[in-house]
Amino acid sequence: MEAACSPPSAGKFVVVGGGIAGVTCAEQLAIHFPSEDILLITASPVIKAVTNFKQVRDLMLKRKSNLLLTHLPQTHLSNLEVSKVLEEFDVEEQPSTMLGNRFPNIKVIESGVKQLNSKEHCILTEDGNQHIYKKLCLCAGAKPKLICEGNPYVLGIRDTDSAQEFQKQLTKAKRIMIIGNGGIALELVYEIEGCEVIWAIKDKAIGNTFFDVGAAEFLTSKLIAEKPEAKIAQKRTRYTTEGRKKEAQTKANAGNTGSALGPDWHEGLDLKGTKEFSHKIHIETMCEVKNIYLQEEFRISKKKSLTFPRDHHNQLVIADKEIWPVYVELTNEKIYGCDFIVSATGVTPNTEPFLCGNNFDVAKDGGLKVDDHMHTSLPDIYAAGDICTASWQPSPVWQQMRLWTQARQMGWYAAKCMAAASAGESTDMDFSFELFAHVTKFFNYKVVLLGKYNAQGLGLDHELILRCTKGQEYIKAVLQNGRMMGAVLIGETDLEETFENLILNQMNLSAYGEDLLDPNIDIEDYFD
Ligand code: FAD
Repeated sequence: MEAACSPPSAGKFVVVGGGIAGVTCAEQLAIHFPSEDILLITASPVIKAVTNFKQVRDLMLKRKSNLLLTHLPQTHLSNLEVSKVLEEFDVEEQPSTMLGNRFPNIKVIESGVKQLNSKEHCILTEDGNQHIYKKLCLCAGAKPKLICEGNPYVLGIRDTDSAQEFQKQLTKAKRIMIIGNGGIALELVYEIEGCEVIWAIKDKAIGNTFFDVGAAEFLTSKLIAEKPEAKIAQKRTRYTTEGRKKEAQTKANAGNTGSALGPDWHEGLDLKGTKEFSHKIHIETMCEVKNIYLQEEFRISKKKSLTFPRDHHNQLVIADKEIWPVYVELTNEKIYGCDFIVSATGVTPNTEPFLCGNNFDVAKDGGLKVDDHMHTSLPDIYAAGDICTASWQPSPVWQQMRLWTQARQMGWYAAKCMAAASAGESTDMDFSFELFAHVTKFFNYKVVLLGKYNAQGLGLDHELILRCTKGQEYIKAVLQNGRMMGAVLIGETDLEETFENLILNQMNLSAYGEDLLDPNIDIEDYFD
């Protein structure tokens, strides 16, 4: 048992959470303070480790005298000359002992936090121990927001165990219903084979977290076409489960507080239902779930469900004779029976154990508000990753999204701020918060999202320049007052670095007009 609550000066640097944010934060603290013990408290026996981190070093801007970096503070110039915002890394789920092997001064405690006493600088864990901190970083992630709690036919996908449970259920399924329009739903509808999928979204078009209607149409044609046999090899963040121990798995199941999955989370899973076809998807747009009925409830209700629409455009209503375990009534009055429902409707920050008795400023989305130094509203408590809500005035081309890359960047920067604060020094905002940049893969296309890629918050006076080659690429540049504010690049466009630079340097592009995306002009070369 650790010492009971004593003065904070006697405490350690403590990080809660073994996901990307927490592990990155603990590692950086261990590097900053090699002679101090860093405590990582985590509810799950496996931790997430970032490996093969790559930030493309790029001297392109250095070479250009015509691209003046007028809008950036001077402190960022040297950074900009050598680094890019887009980053790539692999993520491995490892037993927590591996972290201690790499950083002997990190002590991992496998136990959930039960309570936080911020006045006493003290944390109480499920194993009954108390830990005193001098500075604390909360990185407890988020959990799926389910459309309804306690229904055995409604699954949320969050961690390895829930993904495996989903796979198990899918092997017995003929039809499932997916609710939600974010990244997880997008990945699932494309990956699932041998099972009818009814996808209900509340928007007009698919993937509206990431795409406008044009990009959605480009992707929809791929979704309803037959899948290629072999997948295109893709350079991107990879998720592996190598090194995961069976024993660890059992413990994680019990607590249900494992780390969030991430890019390529479905790669190791065989997402196949009971049927032989590749994929069969029907999309119901602009609707939400009105009611969920179990089999017997549905029988008593005397309502009628519909068969799977025969083709994508066929809205012919045919009553379904088949009996299903669960039925979903949508707000457009259609009812479909299915084997189970996947609720992919976003996440809620994991704040419960920390809020009781502690007067944190909490954002509307349930996250702990953090300032531009990742500091919460309470003394000596920082937060990073999915648990927090960025509450500083952001750069005009950055926004928070609960993504893997941002969890890493926040964890890294929080450690830097904690170290600076404990040395009484100040620190500049990290450059990664200058520009929103995300690389992912949807429907086997490489997808790069930059800045205000959906013109978020730009008002009506923005302009979109598009280039689309069916089945190959979709490029959208968002401009305001002649300056590039964001971009969506789908396919192998090779434009990410050029666009990233154009957004960062805010060059006036008015003179180029639509030529900016003229396929006969090599703009990469032009701006080089
Ligand atoms: P987490 O990874 O959730 O880690 C939280 C940690 O806190 C865990 O170790 C947990 O055990 C621990 N914890 C929780 N409560 C307690 C407690 N009370 N006491 C102690 N420890 C506690 N992002 C992308 O960028 N690209 C993608 O393609 C992508 N796909 C995704 C697919 C799925 C299915 C999911 C669920 C997420 C996906 N994400 C993706 C999001 C990404 O995984 C998260 O944004 C990121 O992992 C958040 O990291 P984190 O460290 O903040 O939290």
